[in-house]
Amino acid sequence: MPQPVVNIGMVGHVDHGKTTLVSALSGVWTDTHSEELKRGISIRLGYADCTFYKCKNCKEPECYTSKPECAACGSKDLEVLRTVSFVDSPGHETLMATMLSGAAIMDGAVLVIAANEPCPQPQTKEHLMALDIIGIKNVVIAQNKIDIVSREDAVKHYNQIKQFVKGTVAENAPIVPVSAQQNINIDVLIKTIEETIPTPKHDLNKPGLMQVARSFDVNRPGTQPAKLNGGVIGGTLSQGTFKVKDEIEIRPGRKVEFEGRTKWEPITTTIVKLVYGGESVEEATPGGLLAVGTKLDPSMTKSDALAGQVAGKPGTLPPVWHKFVMKTQLLERVVGVADEAAMVKSIATSEPLMLSIGTSTTIGVVTSARKDAAEVALKRPVCAEVGARIAISRRIGARWRLIGVGELTG
Ligand code: GDP
Ligand code: MG
Repeated sequence: MPQPVVNIGMVGHVDHGKTTLVSALSGVWTDTHSEELKRGISIRLGYADCTFYKCKNCKEPECYTSKPECAACGSKDLEVLRTVSFVDSPGHETLMATMLSGAAIMDGAVLVIAANEPCPQPQTKEHLMALDIIGIKNVVIAQNKIDIVSREDAVKHYNQIKQFVKGTVAENAPIVPVSAQQNINIDVLIKTIEETIPTPKHDLNKPGLMQVARSFDVNRPGTQPAKLNGGVIGGTLSQGTFKVKDEIEIRPGRKVEFEGRTKWEPITTTIVKLVYGGESVEEATPGGLLAVGTKLDPSMTKSDALAGQVAGKPGTLPPVWHKFVMKTQLLERVVGVADEAAMVKSIATSEPLMLSIGTSTTIGVVTSARKDAAEVALKRPVCAEVGARIAISRRIGARWRLIGVGELTG
């Protein structure tokens, strides 16, 4: 499989078919965590790569496929278009922080909307708002589960979608009716993704920089110490390249307690392995989801412990912030709740906010608030550039709700 060059998010309300659609395209079922299998919902970010092909003999759209054999004529003489990494988000309302950290590494998104429920459902709305806040403009809408609605109801639902996206980033997004489960219209969806979500351009000459979205201990329990693999971090390069044997620095790094005080120390390690979609490479470039094997003690990378951090060439990483000032812009109304009446109140001193910056999520307690700016003290530091976008959520009732966008000013 060629190296993936673009990350495409699967977003939308729980049970609308995101994981099934990733599977229809890539053949990979991304819900593998035991809790996910038991409850039947995605909890963590899922990853799957697939290559898009075009059959040289067949007409559009039948010529588009993600299998190495043309579904229409059986030919194996296919033109390779590109390899795509899908980022499968959880759609459950309690997992917005996970969705937001995934959105930080998406170059474009497929918004999955099930045709058998009125549109919009709460997280259909909340996820689209998140794309808007994070600045993801290239969106394709998959109107899913058309196998279980009548033609008439599908048209009615299509009109609801058109109405719902008016005035949003997805206003002109193409809408493709599909059935992820029955493999209907997947060729048209691939064609539409190819036309709507271009491969982004990245600067390869800058020092390598990776947003860490996941981290793992890949060893089976009980592995003998001598046979242990080092810790693995997963994410995407936003610029530059990584090579095997490169030294990398990870920031903010590790929390250490020293004489009653807490400090964060950057971690340095060596890259021992680079893997894209199960295949090892010597050099990794931006675009696509990358797993980096390191010499770190695997207990340091277990269960996403390093998710939200930034890895790159030592000495070149963005600053680490323990507090900062952000310019803020609040939404008028709270989205993603059943009761649509809730207005967003101004940010108040000493309230805790959930801040999503890149792939990291941290609580910031407001130390001073003005109409269009706030100073926050962070519970966990973040590594980010001045100018970074921040998705701001507030606790409303029992949940964190997206209330606006911020920009780190210093
Ligand atoms: P997610 O929460 O958005 O990831 O949704 P899943 O992919 O886990 O799907 C939720 C349920 O909807 C599962 O039982 C799927 O089998 C079912 N489903 C997904 N896509 C389709 C479809 O196109 N048609 C029908 N009939 N069911 C679907
Ligand atoms: Mg899912």
